[in-house]
Amino acid sequence: PSDAALQEFRRWISSHGADAGGAASPAAVPEGLGLVAARGLSRGEVVAEVPKKLWIDADAVAASDIGRALGGGDLRPWVAVALLLLREAARGADSPWAPYLAILPRQSDSTIFWSEEELLEIQGTQLLSTTMGVKEYVQSEFDNVEAEIISENKDLFPGSITFDDFLWAFGILRSRVFTGLRGDKLALIPLADLVNHSDDITSKESSWEIKGKGLFGRDVVFSLRTPVDVKSGGQIYVQYDLDKSNAELALDYGFTESNSSRDSYTLTLEISESDPFYDDKLDIAELNGLGETAYFDLVLGESLPPQMLTYLRLLCLGGTDAFLLEALFRNAVWGHLELPVSFDNEEAICQVIRNACKSALGAYHTTVEEDEELLERENLQPRFQIAIEVRAGEKKVLQQIDDIFKQREEELDGLEYYQERRLKDIGLVGDNGEIIFWES
Ligand code: SAM
Repeated sequence: PSDAALQEFRRWISSHGADAGGAASPAAVPEGLGLVAARGLSRGEVVAEVPKKLWIDADAVAASDIGRALGGGDLRPWVAVALLLLREAARGADSPWAPYLAILPRQSDSTIFWSEEELLEIQGTQLLSTTMGVKEYVQSEFDNVEAEIISENKDLFPGSITFDDFLWAFGILRSRVFTGLRGDKLALIPLADLVNHSDDITSKESSWEIKGKGLFGRDVVFSLRTPVDVKSGGQIYVQYDLDKSNAELALDYGFTESNSSRDSYTLTLEISESDPFYDDKLDIAELNGLGETAYFDLVLGESLPPQMLTYLRLLCLGGTDAFLLEALFRNAVWGHLELPVSFDNEEAICQVIRNACKSALGAYHTTVEEDEELLERENLQPRFQIAIEVRAGEKKVLQQIDDIFKQREEELDGLEYYQERRLKDIGLVGDNGEIIFWES
């Protein structure tokens, strides 16, 4: 945005008393706009205090002419807020939010805005399929809203709203709404939403809260604190979300972090409908809080998620182990599956996973080594850097999973299986593995 627009925004903010006595000021920074400390700030000091009347949220929708047209309809909260945002943006200087709308970015580096050519760089990644999935979802919401609301209320939306406009609004919400303000609490909070993210902020404590009550929320404010001390002129940062993977950061905000705990891969496992024991397996999975399909998030450098091996053993159960699926075992079977069942079963789970890793790894167009070499170059375009970091991270996790199961394959002979445990339990095998006969 222009300096004039930024000046105007600052005036608007302070005229509403949202700037906490001028502790921080919106300014141009490497991440776009950001919040800069106007004086030395100590950890926990309030840097923005935004009154509810400045928020763009469900209540603002209800109070607007869009709200009247919707008449309490059943739009999803984010769609309603997106429509208000687009309507206000179209009103230009007439909108009460005009100074805020003027400083909103036109685009970010979120993968939802990438060109086809840019998307080629993430060929084979889970990020590509989630990005396509999200865009399809936004497209279908747009088609509904266009048919049912936009075209029925031409007076409210005089200029036409395109899919690109709608995608922009979605991207704004996705990248600016604080984690935790979900569903009908979803809100754009001017000023507070200028705060950028840094992975150096590691406290799990939230840096914001909603304060005050008051009839009709008159005294409600959104209060943002700095999580660390900041020198005068320094930028205030928060941690957006410690739990988001690089793929999620890339999709939601358009940046990635080189921290390996952000590298992750979601394995999808499924009981096949053609499995002869489909019904029993599904029943057992459901009794234990899982289903026909189960998703496991694997993170670089971390051990396998709980229940993954158990579920896998269930998927692969067959042959002479199938007796464990009998109704008689229904309450105990999950416990049995937590440990190796048989050589064949354990070998099968290794093969299933290793084949899945091989086929996933085959879909990427570069190797980890090639990616790492590229990352050493200077002045990489932001989107290119995001692409390389995500595709390298996914491959590293896949290789790590493959390594875990490769090692397991080598140890199959030394594992203890169900039958041996059973014999020990009933006292027929000593601790050293010798069979105990009728000792005196
Ligand atoms: N910088 C934003 C602006 O100009 O309006 C304000 C913060 S907004 C809540 C989130 C967006 O800021 C992200 O989508 C991304 O574009 C940018 N951003 C925040 N933290 C960043 C970081 N650490 N690195 C790169 N971009 C960042």
